[in-house]
Amino acid sequence: MMAQYLQIKEAHKDALLFYRMGDFYELFFDDAVAAAAALDITLTHRGKHLGDAVPMCGVPFHASESYLQRLIKAGFRVAICEQTEDPAEAKKRGAKAVVRREVVRLVTPGTVSEEALLEPLASNFLAAPCRLGGSSDTAGAEDGWALAWLDMSTGEFAAASLSAPALAAHLARLAPREILWPAHLAALETDAPDTLRWADMTGSALRSPVADLSSGAAVAGLKARFGAVVDELFAPLDGQARRGVETACGLLLAYLQATQFGLETPLKPPRLERQDSHMGLDAATRANLELTRTLSGNRAGSLLASIDETVTAQGARALAARLAAPLVDRGAITERHEGVAAFVAAEALRASLRQGLKTAPDMQRALTRLAMQRGGPRDLKELAAGLQAAQESRALLLEALPTPPAALAKICSDLGEAEAQMGALRQELAAALVEQPPLLARDGGFVADGYDDALDAARRLRDESRRVIAALQAEYADETGIKALKIKHNGVLGYHIDVPTAQGDKLMAAPFDATFIHRQTLASAVRFSTQKLSRLAGEISRAGETALALESEVFERLSAACLTARPGLEARADALADLDVLTALAELAAQRNWNCPQIYEDTRFVIEAGRHPVVEAALLREAGRFIANDCALDGSAQEAARLVLLTGPNMAGKSTFLRQNALLAILAQMGSFVPAAKAQIGIVDRVFSRVGAADDLARGRSTFMVEMVETATILTQASPRSLVILDEIGRGTATFDGLSIAWAAVEYLHDRLGCRALFATHYHELTALAERLDGLGNASLKVREHDGDLVFLHEVTNGPADRSYGIHVAELAGLPQAVTARARQVLAQLEENRQADGAGQMGALDGLPLFAEAPVVAPENPLRAMLADLDPDRMSPREALDWLYRLQAVAEKEEG
Ligand code: ATP
Repeated sequence: MMAQYLQIKEAHKDALLFYRMGDFYELFFDDAVAAAAALDITLTHRGKHLGDAVPMCGVPFHASESYLQRLIKAGFRVAICEQTEDPAEAKKRGAKAVVRREVVRLVTPGTVSEEALLEPLASNFLAAPCRLGGSSDTAGAEDGWALAWLDMSTGEFAAASLSAPALAAHLARLAPREILWPAHLAALETDAPDTLRWADMTGSALRSPVADLSSGAAVAGLKARFGAVVDELFAPLDGQARRGVETACGLLLAYLQATQFGLETPLKPPRLERQDSHMGLDAATRANLELTRTLSGNRAGSLLASIDETVTAQGARALAARLAAPLVDRGAITERHEGVAAFVAAEALRASLRQGLKTAPDMQRALTRLAMQRGGPRDLKELAAGLQAAQESRALLLEALPTPPAALAKICSDLGEAEAQMGALRQELAAALVEQPPLLARDGGFVADGYDDALDAARRLRDESRRVIAALQAEYADETGIKALKIKHNGVLGYHIDVPTAQGDKLMAAPFDATFIHRQTLASAVRFSTQKLSRLAGEISRAGETALALESEVFERLSAACLTARPGLEARADALADLDVLTALAELAAQRNWNCPQIYEDTRFVIEAGRHPVVEAALLREAGRFIANDCALDGSAQEAARLVLLTGPNMAGKSTFLRQNALLAILAQMGSFVPAAKAQIGIVDRVFSRVGAADDLARGRSTFMVEMVETATILTQASPRSLVILDEIGRGTATFDGLSIAWAAVEYLHDRLGCRALFATHYHELTALAERLDGLGNASLKVREHDGDLVFLHEVTNGPADRSYGIHVAELAGLPQAVTARARQVLAQLEENRQADGAGQMGALDGLPLFAEAPVVAPENPLRAMLADLDPDRMSPREALDWLYRLQAVAEKEEG
């Protein structure tokens, strides 16, 4: 057996081998050590191999999914090795013959379809990047890439020809669970380690090395799978780009075949996506804006979590996909807005649709499981419920909106696609299945009574025999006079008669020994069988087997019917997901008072009373109030500034303002309403968001290096249609270096790139640039000083801030008073020097006494001040008493 094990393991070195032995999957050697640690299960040792005890651990076959789930999550691949012959067969070859075993499937993060292995609310992408022309030309690695991706759980399949930055942005958008790494990429990575930020590209995905594939072999694979349509799919691409995309698709197909061992995955033909069909959002921008995850990696607290009002898993995934890839086509965007608007207006319709959708299950994934022979009765039930929901939703829509707007017309027609065929299937499923079917078909019990006559007959026989057995027990008890006689059932003896030990002898003596056949004597009981009981038991078991076989036939027939009806089911699944998204966005808009943005082809960006969706929601929970702010930008610098410099104290709300405007653009272009009284947005091709000062020490880059790498990306990639938000760039280095870099960056953005930009800074020196650059404007956040305290008004006004209030904020944060007092002295001196010679040089601080020598300004004590002013000799007793009360009050206030 070990020889067999080692031979199979040799072929699956990079996976944990689940080696089937009876009711367990066993793991040996290093696999056992790794799995025991990852699963927190006991590691044992068994036998010897080359003199050492063999480490081993096992997981029960019936509960294997939950163990698989944890291993896949922990980044392992698992090879499932099953017994492929009956042990009885093996025995015929000799007593020591080993049962034949084969790996039947490789389970990897990107190739799972089981419910337990998937996250319901997230897509599960497998991606394959591919360099055009292989690795021979490392110099040109910047351009000429192809990417193909698929979600096996839903059959979605797509590809694009991309530049290097667009490739990275695409991967960031998809956040695949697994990325294929063909040999030429591995070679390119070694030859040109700096060309692309390789580690950034893969993110947290598992990288799976695969062999290269020629484009000829790839096309052959695609054609074998999808037929001649393949020729048309990629026709818009020219020679090399086309070959690249075909190869990337081919890599995915080959990988599916290799992991599923020939079992066909239900994929849709690949869709070609144009590089510029979506708003460009690179990984850093997505992270900074916390679109789908917060900076700490959680869904909760992200924009997605905050806007997700969907009620189905498919809807949630569709919403996430829209947010991850906002559109850039005005017609498509406004069509989505019209869809939302229709449901904002139709409140009652929206409520009843959402109520109905709650029962719509995950049809896409259920269908895939059935197609991959991993489905069960519950998947059939889900499709039945989905069909029902589709029919009801369509009826509601048509009744309320006889002439629906374009966005809804498509949904309506998809919900009614091939209705004759679907209607029959719906009725069939409804009639066939019980209310709550079990998970597995092999357990039976899912076909409803009255659906199949033969099944009903077999079940009747089985139940009848059970009743006969119950009657037999009474008959035997009566006949023998043993009241405690029982007929029981267990796995070893099957049905048997059970009497207490004391009564056993009675049945073994005449006349009863003619009927009762002794089977077993235990400490507390003696067990018998009779011919009649054996016959009845046989009937029950045969009837049970017949019923199971009939049920399994019904299951196969219904599965096949669903698969035949796939196009209609898929159209409904997608339409229900879209309907969920539109009604959810409408619900959001209605609940939070969001409005429909207007989209333009020019480069305006006019927001009235805009709010930050996530900060506002958080403030609301704490009964706070968010202050709405306007923002006006114009790429042509006609109606408004092209670039606005934003100054103001720390904590005043600069970052919030910057981000909220970027989020407004993203929300508008994904097709949502926006948290603003009015929003006019000229289509943004890319949003760039950078925040200074974020260490990336894990990758060996300092704060400032990260900041500069990211700034470089923007300055080289932004176009006149882009929207750039820069938050305190240049802060991670010496003051003058930072200021100079920020200065040059502002000029470059303004003069060369001409994109719309918001730039928050503490370098007040920059605000003077407004006089020299005509497309540059200043804005600042208002604060009020009140009794020496700072009050943040969170209100954006025109014009620069007068100063930074940094020391004030430091005081608020609880810095020791000696430090803030000293800081004020240093600041006063610096400002004095700057006024004197035009620049605050540190050398000019020579005159400032050292910290130790500086007189410590004792905080003013109000009691002392009051006492100093008193003249007791001149007071009347009454006045003196008043004063005592007053002093007491002041003292109490001080203590408080
Ligand atoms: P720093 O310079 O220290 O980074 P900042 O000026 O960027 O500060 P933010 O981080 O944007 O300030 O905001 C600080 C806090 O002020 C936020 O956490 C939020 O609670 C609150 N805030 C910001 N903007 C508003 C607003 N418009 N209305 C109400 N509260 C706001």
